[in-house]
Amino acid sequence: MTTFQDYTLPPALKTTLSAMGFVTPTPVQEKTIPLALEGRDVLATAMTGSGKTGAFGIPIISKMLSGARGSALILTPTRELATQVGEVFSKLLGTHSPIKTALLIGGDSMEKQLQQLRLRPRILVGTPGRVNDHLQRGALMLHDANTLVLDEMDRMLDMGFEDQIMAILRYLPAMRQTMLFSATLPPQILKISEKYLKTPARVEIGTINKAADAIDQQVIYVAEDQKFSTLVNEASVRTGTMIIFVRTKHGADKLAQRLRKSRHEAEAIHGDLEQWQRERVLQAFRDKKFRILVATDIAARGLDISHIEHVVNYDLPMQPEDYIHRIGRTARAGADGEAISLLTPADQEKWQEIQKLVNPTNAKERAPRTITRERSQPAQLPRTEPAPRVSAPAPSASTAGSTPALPQDLSSILKPIEL
Ligand code: AMP
Repeated sequence: MTTFQDYTLPPALKTTLSAMGFVTPTPVQEKTIPLALEGRDVLATAMTGSGKTGAFGIPIISKMLSGARGSALILTPTRELATQVGEVFSKLLGTHSPIKTALLIGGDSMEKQLQQLRLRPRILVGTPGRVNDHLQRGALMLHDANTLVLDEMDRMLDMGFEDQIMAILRYLPAMRQTMLFSATLPPQILKISEKYLKTPARVEIGTINKAADAIDQQVIYVAEDQKFSTLVNEASVRTGTMIIFVRTKHGADKLAQRLRKSRHEAEAIHGDLEQWQRERVLQAFRDKKFRILVATDIAARGLDISHIEHVVNYDLPMQPEDYIHRIGRTARAGADGEAISLLTPADQEKWQEIQKLVNPTNAKERAPRTITRERSQPAQLPRTEPAPRVSAPAPSASTAGSTPALPQDLSSILKPIEL
């Protein structure tokens, strides 16, 4: 098995990689790093959790440490992801590196960012809105930004960042290396890729992470007015940290409040919170100061918190693809995890769309396992027997009536949306 020590990388980078516990490259790293080191443009389908930050971070730093000039701009859809990416770069660089980084995200102190920019950082990580702000103020120059990473491009487009990204591209030199990472490749991204990437090498990594097959997916059918009591029940019969996804910011606040009233430690995170508040909530969750995080999709994308054991879809996501992103918040770094979706009759259509994405040819056959609760069954009753893992299906007698397991390699989930 190839390890990072077998790669031709600067010794300082090998040292920080082993300090980070990165021994062998993940599949997306294995494919992307050599291409990126050659200077190729890359169009990669990979999701958070696949190790994609290292896939672009390692070659960028390797080249800089080997004497390459210029700077790198990494654009991400959310502040949280930008912060995480910035942290990975800082770790890869090590504590005393002369290569400086800047984190250019909205909701954060402008003065702090201007100070970082005065130090002539060569690694610029940011969200499109704030990067544009700095460009327009003349505080940021990108004429030497010869590497561009568009991270989670599908999400950036969903969030309406296309114009902002196009505006930023005008400041970048034409002679540059561009790496585009996206979980999905809709026609809009292919068009952008044709226009802005130079004969890119394609990298296709479908799995959310190595542990994707360890996500035990369950569906609970429930009437609208039973949703909350069912949730409380599910939270009560489990230990371990939990992230609950809801549709709206207001819904997130309200649900966290109701959970607290039911004596569950819960906090909400969503796009209406100030940046410092979001960071504080996330840090407290990371430190296990409370057990349940209620989140909207926008706030939770890209979260990499290794101890999340349970993901609950209290509301189904608006975009079917977000189902895959959401469940990828658990089973991080080789751990097991569980994803529970509460489905009301009104969710039928949306659930079918998700199933189509999971497996368009025979959704039933490969749909997530279903646990059906009779309406008459008391909601407070804990499950008597743990659900069988998807990766190790129980004997057929005990699974009768349930739909078969999810495909173990989630790459097949992504295939339908590759064009
Ligand atoms: P990412 O997809 O970049 O958010 O990475 C997902 C998780 O995998 C993070 O916790 C990383 O620290 C971890 N990770 C990334 N690459 C490696 C590697 N080569 N070995 C071990 N862990 C890794």
